[in-house]
Amino acid sequence: MAETEFSRVSDHVYWLSPGKPDRPALAAVVGEDFTVMLDAGASAAHVRLMLDGLREEGVALPRYTVLTHWHWDHIFGAKEISAPLIAHVQTAEWLAKLTTQDWSNNALDQRLGHSAEFAYSINDIKLELPEPRRVDIIQPEMVFEGSLDLYLGGVSCHIQHVGGDHAADSVVIYVEPDRVLFLGDALYQTVYSPIPYFTAKRLLPLMETLQGFEADHYIEGHGDAVMSRMEFATLLSKMRLAMTVAAQGLDEAATLAAAQALSGIVPDEDTEFFVQTMIAGRDVE
Ligand SMILES: [Zn+2]
Repeated sequence: MAETEFSRVSDHVYWLSPGKPDRPALAAVVGEDFTVMLDAGASAAHVRLMLDGLREEGVALPRYTVLTHWHWDHIFGAKEISAPLIAHVQTAEWLAKLTTQDWSNNALDQRLGHSAEFAYSINDIKLELPEPRRVDIIQPEMVFEGSLDLYLGGVSCHIQHVGGDHAADSVVIYVEPDRVLFLGDALYQTVYSPIPYFTAKRLLPLMETLQGFEADHYIEGHGDAVMSRMEFATLLSKMRLAMTVAAQGLDEAATLAAAQALSGIVPDEDTEFFVQTMIAGRDVE
C-alpha cells in the first residue's frame, strides 16, 4: 500500500488516501459556508492527518461528519473530529449496539470465532489502537432514511442509501458540481462471512444505482487511487461479466473459461476474484 497522502481531487474536495493497517480513504468537502467530512476514520491519529491537511490549506474544519456505514475503521475517529454525525438509520442502530462493546484485547479475543461481526478486524484494531485502548463510539445527531442533501455554499452533497453485500447500511455521497462520487465500501464483497461473496440480487441494483451518477471521480474506501469515469466503467464491466457467467452454475474453471469466451480476453486478477466471490454467493439468500 502506498504512503497516505493528502491531496485535492477537485475544486471543493480533499482526499486522504488509505493507509495501514486498514485505514480507509477519507474526504472533506469544503463549501463557502461550511465543510463536511466524509467518514470518521479508524482512530484519532488517522483523522488528525486529514484535519492537519485542511489546516495547512487554510480552509474551515468540518462542521458535520457523514458516515458511509458502521464498520469500525470508518467510525472510531469521530470524537476527534468533534463535528456532529449524520448517519443512515441502520448505521445509527449499529452505533447504539457498539456503545456497549468492550474493546480490550481480552474481549476482542473472546469475540474471535463467536462474533462474525468482528472476526476479520481484530488484528487491525490492535495495530491501529494498541492497549490501553480507549474507543469512543459517538452517536449521530442527524439520522435519515433514503437520502439527504447538504448545501455547503457553492457545492452540495447528495447522500444516498444504497445497501449492498458489504454492509446493508451503506450510503454513497455525490458531490456537485465537482462530480465526485464517494463510495465508502459500498461496492465491496461481504467481510463478515467465512467466505467473501457477492450476490447478484444485491449487486445488480447497486451497480445500476451507481451508474446513474454522472461522476468524473470515484473514491473507494480502500482504493489507492481515485478512479476516473473510464476506470470505474471498466471495474463495473468486469463485475457484470463475472455475474453473468457465475449465473450459469458451472465450477470455477468452467466459469473462467466462459468469461474468456464471452469477453474474448483472458480473465485478469480482478475478474478472477469477482468470479470466485460471485460463485460463493450463488446460493446465498
Ligand atoms: Zn466496511
